[in-house]
Amino acid sequence: MKCTLCPRECGADRAAGERGYCGMGDDIRVARVALHPFEEPCISGKHGSGTVFFVGCSLGCVFCQNRAIRTPEAGKSVSPERLGELFLSLQQQGAHNINLVTATHFAHGVSKALQQVKKQLTVPVVYNCGGYEKVDTLRLFEGLVDIYLPDFKYILSSMSAEYSAAPDYGEVATAALAEMYRQVGEATFDSDGMMRRGVMVRHLVLPGGRRDSVAVLDRIAATVPVEQIRLSLMRQYTPDFCPPDAPQVLQRRLTSFEYDTVAAHARTLGFTGYFQAKESVGADYTPDFTAETFS
Ligand code: SF4
Repeated sequence: MKCTLCPRECGADRAAGERGYCGMGDDIRVARVALHPFEEPCISGKHGSGTVFFVGCSLGCVFCQNRAIRTPEAGKSVSPERLGELFLSLQQQGAHNINLVTATHFAHGVSKALQQVKKQLTVPVVYNCGGYEKVDTLRLFEGLVDIYLPDFKYILSSMSAEYSAAPDYGEVATAALAEMYRQVGEATFDSDGMMRRGVMVRHLVLPGGRRDSVAVLDRIAATVPVEQIRLSLMRQYTPDFCPPDAPQVLQRRLTSFEYDTVAAHARTLGFTGYFQAKESVGADYTPDFTAETFS
């Protein structure tokens, strides 16, 4: 059967051994299963977020920090049954949530795993993604995912084409965001301030991308009620992950002027959430994908 799970709709017959643009075949591949302390405070809390990093990606970002797990050989193959056990094990270790990182291209298997264990999960399930999602695929997760944590990277088609090989990113991400909000509604938190439900949108301000960032915020505000979601406005861009042939503007760091301009616009629009401190810049937040974290 031809795969159309993500907006690429590349049509690879994964069951017959073909690999799609995402690099993945038929089996679910997982790179890392561990408590992760470096998500936003309402996601990581004191004990960490129960992250499951999936191998492969349907975007092709030139500045990808997780390049090491984009290759088909990365990680290990797991069955939906084993994946469900890993979710429960993370909960047992004290995870504040089960955090599915880039699960889109395994949507059938991951939703099956969630169906099997959802009743035993007392912590919320987080769908953490690049924002490049098909509405039909998101509907596989309705009732299974409690928190959507998408990026909203760009509006300008020329920018998303050059940086992520996805000229339709802005329009796709807009429709996806509307669907996410439809499914989970207003953001809610427990008495400790941990997020229980809702949407938190991440936006990474890029060097030279200030005007597009402002347009992204305007688009988000025109799509969902800003007072009912949370924004995580990130400044952690580092050229450390950029290959030498990446666009010149990406070879430098973000300036304070660029970030502060976008942050001021976010506040004017009424966004609340997280505005990242300058000290957060660097590669320290990238997990170690070489460590053995599950079997
Ligand atoms: S999920 Fe992978 S195989 Fe399926 S359409 Fe997208 S890129 Fe192609």
